[in-house]
Amino acid sequence: MDDDDARERSASFPGEPDGFERLWTPHRMVYIQGEGKPDDDGEDTCPFCVAPGRDDAEALIVARGAAAYVVLNLFPYNTGHLLVCPYRHVSDYTELTDAEVRDVAALTQTAMRVTRDVSAPAGFNLGMNQGPVAGAGIAAHLHQHVVPRWAGDANFLPIVARTKALPELLADTRARLAAAWPTSDPKDS
Ligand SMILES: [Zn+2]
Repeated sequence: MDDDDARERSASFPGEPDGFERLWTPHRMVYIQGEGKPDDDGEDTCPFCVAPGRDDAEALIVARGAAAYVVLNLFPYNTGHLLVCPYRHVSDYTELTDAEVRDVAALTQTAMRVTRDVSAPAGFNLGMNQGPVAGAGIAAHLHQHVVPRWAGDANFLPIVARTKALPELLADTRARLAAAWPTSDPKDS
């Protein structure tokens, strides 16, 4: 293709790859390039360390707290799949400071409230994968998954085609969540 150089590599965006392809309609080129998985080598290339230094819309950041921030997963399991990450490059939950634990917890609660207001899911999956063996795609930088669930959101596509259908562009999802995020969110916990 002629415009390869104009594309941004997906490795520079926050996200946790898994084995699934995504069926995006419409597409953004950054999402359909096959190469460029995020590195897991260190803070310089860690997508969760790089993201806070970028513009919110560019980095898909929904909200920033004092010790942690909320970002859309570039590789969502479902529409509105959020990740709550400490700013610090730390892998294990037991290594978090008290302030980081409080901020990750408070931002997770706010993420659930905002998501309920915006898109009325029937439930959530919350959790952290600790270590590659447990399924962590970016094991070096802790992140809490907040995955909204709707009745009937699971279908045959992931099983027969290793593909997930995602009906909303990430930029649109981010804008809706960021606009609904309360300004009174604790910034100095
Ligand atoms: Zn990091």
